[in-house]
Amino acid sequence: MSRGILTIVSGFSGAGKGTVMKAFLKKYTDYALSISVTTRSPRNEEQEGREYFFRSKEEFEKLIEENELLEYAQYSGNYYGTPRSYVEKCLGEGKDVILEIEIQGAGKVKKMFPDAVLVFVTPPSVEELYRRLSSRGTETPEQIAVRMETAGKEAEHMDEYDYLLINDSLEECVDSLQQIILNEHRCVERNAEFTGRIRSEFKTFKIENKQ
Ligand code: 5GP
Repeated sequence: MSRGILTIVSGFSGAGKGTVMKAFLKKYTDYALSISVTTRSPRNEEQEGREYFFRSKEEFEKLIEENELLEYAQYSGNYYGTPRSYVEKCLGEGKDVILEIEIQGAGKVKKMFPDAVLVFVTPPSVEELYRRLSSRGTETPEQIAVRMETAGKEAEHMDEYDYLLINDSLEECVDSLQQIILNEHRCVERNAEFTGRIRSEFKTFKIENKQ
């Protein structure tokens, strides 16, 4: 069985990644989404084990010590990390796995899994990013300013990604992400087993036996 494809979706906070991911997983149900652990407090509707596993700083540091995290990073004053066992298990079972993580974590995972696909989600403009961050009403003006500053720094790393998703229309964005992953499945490099089999079939194939 071939290994699943690991797709890492990053983007500015407020780019609408969460909304894109939710709509994507609703429409395309075969993917395994990794649920991260974080030390930040839950927002309005967020539930333990659905958006995140919410943990204290001490609990998070214990996970680091016990090597339970594939990667972790600090973002806007909180820890965020990817549980290792779920990702490794799903990939081993041939499932396509999606991580929705920030840029530092994406870089670390790419080093461990060089064939991971890196997708960057951005709104069409910086003005629009600020509008979306302000209108969701979940951060104070100071927190919004920090997130805008962080986004400015993240923009410097967009070139390290394989694909860009400009989140203008949600539906198009969702379908584009599906297309990206399907295209990766069709990549010749990822199909060495198949191309090898075709080559060896040519070596033994004889037309005269067919008549
Ligand atoms: P938020 O607080 O808005 O839910 O997330 C803040 C940032 O942390 C987002 O860019 C999100 O993608 C990122 N993030 C969420 N989970 C993880 C994780 O497990 N590891 C890393 N490195 N970043 C994460």
